[in-house]
Amino acid sequence: MHDSTRRSPEPPRAIQADHDAIRRGRVWPAVAVLIAVIGSVSAVFGARAVATADSEDSRDAFDASSTEIAATLAAAVEDEADLAVNAAAYIVGNPDTTNDEFVAWTENIRLIDRYPQLRSILFATMVPADELDGFLRDVTAPLSPTATGAPQVVPGGERDLYCLTVAKKATGTALPAGMDFCATALGRELLAARDSGLSSYVAVTDETFTSAAREDAGDNTSADPQVIEDVALLLVQTPVYRSGTVPDSPEARRAEFLGWIGMAVSPEVVLHSALVGRDEIGLRFTYDTGASRVAFSNKTMPVGSQVRSFDFGNGWTAETFGAVEGSGVFTSRVALTVLTGGIVLSFAVALLVLVLSTGRARAWRFVREMTDELRHQAMHDPLTGLPNRSLIADRTEQLLARNRRSHTAGAALFIDLDEFKNINDTLGHEAGDELLESVARRLTHELREADTIGRLGGDEFIVLLDDASVGTAERVAQRLLDVMREPFTLAASNQPIVVSASIGVALGDRESPSELLRDADVALYRAKAAGRNCHATFSSEMEAHIQQRLELEFDLRSALDGDQFRLVYQPMYDLSDLSMIGVEALLRWDHPTQGLINPDGFIPMLESSGKITDVGRWVLAEACARAEGWRSRGSAVGISVNVSGRQLVHDSVVDDVRAALDSSGLEPAALTIEITESVLMRDVETTARRLRDLKSFGVGIAIDDFGTGYSSLAYLQKFPVDRLKIDRSFTDAMTRSSETVALIHTLVQVGKSLGLRTLAEGVETAEQIDRLRAEGVDEVQGYLLARPLDAARLEEQLLRPLRPDERSQDLS
Ligand code: C2E
Ligand code: CA
Ligand code: CA
Repeated sequence: MHDSTRRSPEPPRAIQADHDAIRRGRVWPAVAVLIAVIGSVSAVFGARAVATADSEDSRDAFDASSTEIAATLAAAVEDEADLAVNAAAYIVGNPDTTNDEFVAWTENIRLIDRYPQLRSILFATMVPADELDGFLRDVTAPLSPTATGAPQVVPGGERDLYCLTVAKKATGTALPAGMDFCATALGRELLAARDSGLSSYVAVTDETFTSAAREDAGDNTSADPQVIEDVALLLVQTPVYRSGTVPDSPEARRAEFLGWIGMAVSPEVVLHSALVGRDEIGLRFTYDTGASRVAFSNKTMPVGSQVRSFDFGNGWTAETFGAVEGSGVFTSRVALTVLTGGIVLSFAVALLVLVLSTGRARAWRFVREMTDELRHQAMHDPLTGLPNRSLIADRTEQLLARNRRSHTAGAALFIDLDEFKNINDTLGHEAGDELLESVARRLTHELREADTIGRLGGDEFIVLLDDASVGTAERVAQRLLDVMREPFTLAASNQPIVVSASIGVALGDRESPSELLRDADVALYRAKAAGRNCHATFSSEMEAHIQQRLELEFDLRSALDGDQFRLVYQPMYDLSDLSMIGVEALLRWDHPTQGLINPDGFIPMLESSGKITDVGRWVLAEACARAEGWRSRGSAVGISVNVSGRQLVHDSVVDDVRAALDSSGLEPAALTIEITESVLMRDVETTARRLRDLKSFGVGIAIDDFGTGYSSLAYLQKFPVDRLKIDRSFTDAMTRSSETVALIHTLVQVGKSLGLRTLAEGVETAEQIDRLRAEGVDEVQGYLLARPLDAARLEEQLLRPLRPDERSQDLS
């Protein structure tokens, strides 16, 4: 499989191309000989015969030229289609592409080199009025060629919808950033393309679109298409949908619509390359689907011309026209000249044809090879060489058909790395790419020849299995998870990277490939929710589960006002004497019908809705007040509060902490703020400044989930940190893997070298305690010692010293 996926899927085409070239290579010498013979004989038979032969030659030559012109144009039409497919595949795989990523992609595949007629290629999307400010700030700004100020929408004015460029690669003058295409003459075409799923073609006379001169099918009823003068550019707009294919109904097209690939092609370059050296020939190149129609030509057609027509399909046609050579008046002087000169000339022409034709054959083969390569690229992911989304859709369709015939079940495994974004954010895209390549290699290596693996984009992979039972599919999924366990060594990072993946499995027949993939995606969602690093198999009950989540999201909006949040407290202990050093406040949602819900089930929703700021403020106030209550009754307990990355992006978090301290009267040194490591690395400078502000009150700072964020020592030194909380996954794995022991060792050494306390999270066994002690870890927290407890239970324990045999009650 590995090899066949990398090769062009249709070798016969390449062979066919060679045959064509060879055939052309054989035909042309014959033509050359024919020209020489006809020329010589004509010369011998005199001026009249010469005149006749001239006329024939000219027709032959006209035919031959026309055919070659047509071949060049056909290749150009094919280029257009390939380009659109290629770019659409990129967008489907990278719907959130930045301008830089898009430009890098065009450069990677040498787009502009390959298509000299391509003046620009862009990805544009529809932006509703209420998202316009955010869009201009986040997306368009890096494109802005305007010298002063923020990018603006051109033309100005308020509209419901804007059609704006997300990313663009151009060779010539760039349009103003923020050009709203839907407010130009292009608008109607763009919306029609979105709804129909078809590309639209528009010819314009200049690059600003403001005076888009285009031939409207309605305007032109005459049989003879009018020629547009001064056409500067042909604009091709191809709609792109989330699924990578064109959905069946207009409603589905609107729902799945991602944006348009817009290409500006110079017809002049196309015409010029087709006509090079054939100035005498007239050419008209027309696109007409009824909906849109454009025509280009190099000259007008004189009356009585000879004409050849070509149809390239997809609405593209071409006509060549040229003057008919008349049989001139015979004179003996001409006859003599023709006799001598004609023979020489005939041979010269024959030779020329021979030379030109072999060059042509080579050029033709080259074009074919490029097309094959492009087709391969359009179907494969450039990074890993694996089949991409469109080829996977194809393969899934075949999988379903095959298994239907053999009455077996095909399976799709949807694999997604856990926390991949962190790696990209903290180690950079280069490391991310390197990791993806390694992951692709490992997964591929683990599969059988007959299995298919592809990359959907980002950190998502698909594996297709024929004739699979639930048991085999799940076994394969487990094997794939197992091979990920081994840490990855990357050139871009000096420490080994531990990654895990989650896998969704869907099995059996479906109406369409997208349904099977969607079900696998639903199962993946479940695997993620179940704590990641695991696999889940699709069942129809899962869909109901997704519905429930939507309802939960709705309920969450009123949870704070409804007083439904609670805090529980999990003690932390000094490892040397197991004395309690403090408690960590952990949030719970007391749902009116579902009971207590753990934070993993709702904090991501709070974060994406932005509500985390308000809830976080409540947590701070509640935790500080509670701790002050305990301290005023004589226990020296400290309190740790988790602060989300979303809270930390605003200065207000500093005010919130200040306010919580002030209103509770809690001594600042008794409060510790916990921040996950990956958050720290996102915007190092701002975060460091904010943490220094907090630190200046005298509160402590702990790095949570340490070891999963891949921070470098140099960065860590920038933060005023007091404690490192080594992530639970390391504690969990340390008794099974010596790699992990080595990692924990490194983490503890990092802590020691920076003068920080280290705490191991998630301690569940006595064996772990022993190992942690051996590694010199300072503090521990975990179910073995205490589960999170509500305030009442905790107070019982705080008021008397903890005995090691004491086990707290479960509340988490
Ligand atoms: P965290 O800060 O890493 O909290 C530790 C989590 O590990 C808690 O889950 C705790 O119940 C669990 N845990 C503790 N000991 C053990 C053990 O021995 N074994 C196992 N398997 N688990 C253990 P919880 O309470 O579900 O919290 C999950 C995460 O939610 C927290 O991870 C934290 O990142 C976040 N979180 C909790 N409360 C808040 C909050 O008030 N604000 C914010 N922003 N995030 C919070
Ligand atoms: Ca924490
Ligand atoms: Ca943690």
